Amino acid sequence: MADACQECGDRGLILRGDAAVPCKCVKEKAVRIRFLQAHITPLMRECLFDRFTFKYYSRTSRDKIKGITYYDSAKRAYDAARDFVTSFLSGKSSEGLIFVGEVGTGKTFLACCIANAVLASGQEVLLVNVPDFLDEIRATYDVSSDMEHSEHELLGLAKGVPLLILDDLGAFIYTEWARQKIYSILNHRLNHCMPVIITTNVALEELEEYLGERTTSRLFEMCRTYRIYVDHDIRAVRREKPETGHR
Ligand SMILES: [Zn+2]
Repeated sequence: MADACQECGDRGLILRGDAAVPCKCVKEKAVRIRFLQAHITPLMRECLFDRFTFKYYSRTSRDKIKGITYYDSAKRAYDAARDFVTSFLSGKSSEGLIFVGEVGTGKTFLACCIANAVLASGQEVLLVNVPDFLDEIRATYDVSSDMEHSEHELLGLAKGVPLLILDDLGAFIYTEWARQKIYSILNHRLNHCMPVIITTNVALEELEEYLGERTTSRLFEMCRTYRIYVDHDIRAVRREKPETGHR
Protein backbone atom coordinates (compact mmCIF):
# COMPACT_ATOMS: atom_id res chain seq x y z
CA MET A 1 0.00 0.00 0.00
CA ALA A 2 1.38 3.43 -0.90
CA ASP A 3 2.08 5.81 1.96
CA ALA A 4 -0.62 8.35 2.78
CA CYS A 5 -0.06 11.90 1.53
CA GLN A 6 1.77 13.97 4.13
CA GLU A 7 -0.03 17.15 3.09
CA CYS A 8 -3.62 15.98 3.24
CA GLY A 9 -3.56 12.47 4.75
CA ASP A 10 -5.22 11.25 1.55
CA ARG A 11 -8.29 13.41 2.12
CA GLY A 12 -7.50 15.13 -1.18
CA LEU A 13 -8.20 18.59 0.24
CA ILE A 14 -6.10 21.03 2.23
CA LEU A 15 -7.16 24.16 4.01
CA ARG A 16 -5.86 27.43 2.68
CA GLY A 17 -7.21 30.15 4.94
CA ASP A 18 -10.91 29.37 5.16
CA ALA A 19 -11.08 27.59 1.85
CA ALA A 20 -10.50 23.92 1.15
CA VAL A 21 -8.48 23.46 -2.02
CA PRO A 22 -7.50 20.27 -3.82
CA CYS A 23 -4.16 18.87 -2.67
CA LYS A 24 -1.47 18.45 -5.34
CA CYS A 25 -1.46 14.70 -4.65
CA VAL A 26 -4.86 14.39 -6.36
CA LYS A 27 -3.41 15.43 -9.69
CA GLU A 28 -0.23 13.43 -9.10
CA LYS A 29 -2.26 10.34 -8.42
CA ALA A 30 -4.33 10.85 -11.57
CA VAL A 31 -1.13 11.12 -13.63
CA ARG A 32 0.26 8.00 -11.95
CA ILE A 33 -2.91 5.94 -12.54
CA ARG A 34 -2.98 7.04 -16.18
CA PHE A 35 0.61 5.90 -16.54
CA LEU A 36 -0.06 2.53 -14.89
CA GLN A 37 -3.18 1.93 -16.97
CA ALA A 38 -1.42 2.88 -20.19
CA HIS A 39 0.84 -0.12 -19.73
CA ILE A 40 -2.05 -2.57 -19.76
CA THR A 41 -3.28 -2.94 -23.32
CA PRO A 42 -6.92 -3.73 -24.18
CA LEU A 43 -5.82 -7.29 -25.05
CA MET A 44 -4.20 -7.70 -21.64
CA ARG A 45 -7.40 -6.55 -19.95
CA GLU A 46 -9.12 -9.62 -21.39
CA CYS A 47 -6.85 -11.90 -19.35
CA LEU A 48 -8.95 -12.91 -16.37
CA PHE A 49 -8.62 -15.88 -14.05
CA ASP A 50 -11.93 -17.38 -15.10
CA ARG A 51 -10.87 -17.24 -18.74
CA PHE A 52 -7.69 -19.21 -18.14
CA THR A 53 -8.05 -22.41 -20.16
CA PHE A 54 -6.54 -25.63 -18.88
CA LYS A 55 -7.32 -27.63 -22.01
CA TYR A 56 -4.02 -26.56 -23.58
CA TYR A 57 -2.02 -28.41 -20.96
CA SER A 58 -1.38 -32.08 -21.54
CA ARG A 59 -2.44 -34.59 -18.92
CA THR A 60 0.05 -37.11 -20.27
CA SER A 61 3.22 -35.17 -21.14
CA ARG A 62 5.41 -34.74 -18.10
CA ASP A 63 7.84 -32.15 -16.85
CA LYS A 64 11.23 -33.86 -16.93
CA ILE A 65 12.42 -32.18 -13.76
CA LYS A 66 9.50 -32.72 -11.40
CA GLY A 67 7.80 -35.59 -13.20
CA ILE A 68 4.36 -33.98 -12.95
CA THR A 69 2.08 -33.51 -15.95
CA TYR A 70 1.91 -30.25 -17.89
CA TYR A 71 -1.65 -29.94 -16.64
CA ASP A 72 -0.49 -30.18 -13.02
CA SER A 73 2.30 -27.67 -13.64
CA ALA A 74 -0.21 -25.21 -15.07
CA LYS A 75 -2.63 -25.86 -12.22
CA ARG A 76 0.06 -25.19 -9.62
CA ALA A 77 1.07 -21.94 -11.33
CA TYR A 78 -2.57 -20.88 -11.61
CA ASP A 79 -3.29 -21.66 -7.94
CA ALA A 80 -0.16 -19.81 -6.87
CA ALA A 81 -1.27 -16.77 -8.89
CA ARG A 82 -4.72 -16.78 -7.28
CA ASP A 83 -3.29 -17.29 -3.81
CA PHE A 84 -0.90 -14.44 -4.41
CA VAL A 85 -3.76 -12.07 -5.26
CA THR A 86 -5.75 -13.10 -2.18
CA SER A 87 -2.84 -12.59 0.13
CA PHE A 88 -1.69 -9.37 -1.55
CA LEU A 89 -5.15 -7.82 -1.36
CA SER A 90 -5.54 -8.78 2.28
CA GLY A 91 -2.43 -6.71 2.95
CA LYS A 92 -0.22 -9.63 3.94
CA SER A 93 3.31 -9.42 2.69
CA SER A 94 3.62 -12.13 0.13
CA GLU A 95 6.43 -13.76 -1.74
CA GLY A 96 6.58 -12.90 -5.40
CA LEU A 97 6.28 -15.36 -8.24
CA ILE A 98 8.40 -16.26 -11.23
CA PHE A 99 6.67 -17.98 -14.14
CA VAL A 100 9.13 -19.76 -16.39
CA GLY A 101 8.12 -21.07 -19.79
CA GLU A 102 8.68 -20.91 -23.51
CA VAL A 103 6.81 -18.49 -25.74
CA GLY A 104 3.09 -19.33 -25.81
CA THR A 105 2.82 -21.22 -22.52
CA GLY A 106 0.37 -18.80 -20.94
CA LYS A 107 2.78 -17.20 -18.46
CA THR A 108 2.05 -13.64 -19.56
CA PHE A 109 -1.67 -14.42 -19.52
CA LEU A 110 -1.33 -15.45 -15.88
CA ALA A 111 0.67 -12.33 -15.02
CA CYS A 112 -2.06 -10.22 -16.63
CA CYS A 113 -4.73 -12.08 -14.61
CA ILE A 114 -2.92 -10.98 -11.47
CA ALA A 115 -2.64 -7.39 -12.70
CA ASN A 116 -6.33 -7.20 -13.60
CA ALA A 117 -7.49 -8.74 -10.33
CA VAL A 118 -5.37 -6.28 -8.35
CA LEU A 119 -6.53 -3.30 -10.46
CA ALA A 120 -10.15 -4.36 -10.09
CA SER A 121 -9.69 -4.02 -6.34
CA GLY A 122 -8.52 -0.46 -6.76
CA GLN A 123 -4.86 -1.15 -6.00
CA GLU A 124 -2.00 0.15 -8.08
CA VAL A 125 0.03 -2.21 -10.22
CA LEU A 126 2.69 -1.51 -12.81
CA LEU A 127 3.00 -4.17 -15.50
CA VAL A 128 5.87 -3.62 -17.90
CA ASN A 129 7.46 -5.55 -20.68
CA VAL A 130 11.09 -5.39 -19.60
CA PRO A 131 12.74 -4.50 -22.94
CA ASP A 132 10.08 -1.82 -23.59
CA PHE A 133 10.48 -0.37 -20.12
CA LEU A 134 14.25 -0.16 -20.53
CA ASP A 135 13.64 1.67 -23.83
CA GLU A 136 11.22 3.96 -22.07
CA ILE A 137 13.86 4.85 -19.49
CA ARG A 138 16.48 5.32 -22.18
CA ALA A 139 14.15 7.65 -24.09
CA THR A 140 14.11 10.05 -21.14
CA TYR A 141 17.81 10.76 -21.84
CA ASP A 142 16.86 12.29 -25.17
CA VAL A 143 16.35 15.97 -24.40
CA SER A 144 14.37 16.48 -27.60
CA SER A 145 11.79 13.84 -26.65
CA ASP A 146 8.51 14.91 -25.11
CA MET A 147 8.44 12.22 -22.44
CA GLU A 148 5.99 13.01 -19.69
CA HIS A 149 8.17 11.37 -17.03
CA SER A 150 11.82 11.60 -16.08
CA GLU A 151 14.05 8.57 -15.49
CA HIS A 152 13.85 9.32 -11.79
CA GLU A 153 10.05 9.18 -11.91
CA LEU A 154 9.95 5.96 -13.93
CA LEU A 155 12.35 4.20 -11.59
CA GLY A 156 10.55 5.68 -8.60
CA LEU A 157 7.29 4.19 -9.84
CA ALA A 158 8.80 0.77 -10.47
CA LYS A 159 10.32 0.81 -7.00
CA GLY A 160 7.37 2.26 -5.12
CA VAL A 161 4.27 0.82 -6.79
CA PRO A 162 2.55 -1.69 -4.49
CA LEU A 163 2.83 -4.42 -7.12
CA LEU A 164 5.35 -4.60 -9.95
CA ILE A 165 5.05 -7.12 -12.77
CA LEU A 166 8.06 -7.58 -15.03
CA ASP A 167 6.95 -9.38 -18.14
CA ASP A 168 9.56 -11.03 -20.32
CA LEU A 169 12.67 -10.71 -18.22
CA GLY A 170 14.20 -12.77 -20.92
CA ALA A 171 17.23 -13.73 -22.85
CA PHE A 172 18.51 -10.38 -23.95
CA ILE A 173 21.97 -9.05 -24.01
CA TYR A 174 21.67 -6.74 -21.06
CA THR A 175 24.12 -3.89 -20.97
CA GLU A 176 25.73 -3.09 -17.65
CA TRP A 177 23.46 -0.05 -17.60
CA ALA A 178 20.32 -2.22 -17.95
CA ARG A 179 21.52 -4.74 -15.38
CA GLN A 180 22.09 -1.89 -12.95
CA LYS A 181 18.56 -0.52 -13.45
CA ILE A 182 16.96 -3.93 -12.92
CA TYR A 183 19.08 -4.59 -9.88
CA SER A 184 18.28 -1.25 -8.27
CA ILE A 185 14.53 -1.84 -8.72
CA LEU A 186 14.60 -5.39 -7.34
CA ASN A 187 16.95 -4.53 -4.54
CA HIS A 188 14.75 -1.67 -3.40
CA ARG A 189 11.62 -3.80 -3.50
CA LEU A 190 13.18 -6.66 -1.60
CA ASN A 191 14.49 -4.30 1.08
CA HIS A 192 10.97 -2.89 1.50
CA CYS A 193 9.17 -6.26 1.33
CA MET A 194 7.33 -5.26 -1.84
CA PRO A 195 6.44 -8.13 -4.14
CA VAL A 196 7.28 -8.60 -7.78
CA ILE A 197 5.85 -10.99 -10.36
CA ILE A 198 8.13 -12.08 -13.17
CA THR A 199 7.72 -13.96 -16.40
CA THR A 200 10.73 -15.30 -18.25
CA ASN A 201 11.53 -17.73 -21.02
CA VAL A 202 14.98 -18.39 -19.61
CA ALA A 203 15.64 -21.44 -17.48
CA LEU A 204 16.58 -20.25 -14.04
CA GLU A 205 20.02 -21.79 -14.21
CA GLU A 206 20.68 -19.56 -17.22
CA LEU A 207 19.14 -16.38 -15.89
CA GLU A 208 22.33 -15.54 -14.06
CA GLU A 209 24.22 -15.41 -17.36
CA TYR A 210 21.95 -12.64 -18.55
CA LEU A 211 21.33 -10.69 -15.39
CA GLY A 212 24.37 -11.34 -13.25
CA GLU A 213 24.64 -13.14 -9.95
CA ARG A 214 23.69 -10.14 -7.81
CA THR A 215 20.28 -9.74 -9.42
CA THR A 216 19.40 -13.41 -9.68
CA SER A 217 20.23 -14.11 -6.06
CA ARG A 218 17.89 -11.26 -5.04
CA LEU A 219 15.19 -12.75 -7.28
CA PHE A 220 15.45 -16.11 -5.59
CA GLU A 221 15.12 -14.46 -2.19
CA MET A 222 11.94 -12.68 -3.31
CA CYS A 223 10.07 -15.21 -5.40
CA ARG A 224 8.82 -18.74 -5.74
CA THR A 225 9.22 -20.30 -9.16
CA TYR A 226 6.68 -22.12 -11.33
CA ARG A 227 7.46 -23.74 -14.65
CA ILE A 228 4.75 -23.96 -17.28
CA TYR A 229 4.89 -26.30 -20.27
CA VAL A 230 2.76 -26.90 -23.33
CA ASP A 231 3.07 -29.28 -26.26
CA HIS A 232 2.08 -26.54 -28.73
CA ASP A 233 2.31 -22.77 -28.57
CA ILE A 234 -1.13 -21.78 -27.21
CA ARG A 235 -1.34 -18.70 -29.38
CA ALA A 236 -0.77 -20.74 -32.52
CA VAL A 237 -3.42 -23.29 -31.46
CA ARG A 238 -5.89 -20.46 -30.81
CA ARG A 239 -5.34 -19.03 -34.27
CA GLU A 240 -6.06 -22.39 -35.88
CA LYS A 241 -9.16 -23.37 -33.94
CA PRO A 242 -11.94 -21.07 -32.86
CA GLU A 243 -12.11 -20.63 -29.10
CA THR A 244 -14.77 -22.86 -27.56
CA GLY A 245 -14.37 -21.65 -24.04
CA HIS A 246 -14.23 -25.09 -22.39
CA ARG A 247 -11.75 -25.54 -19.61
ZN1 LIG B 1 -2.47 15.08 -0.58
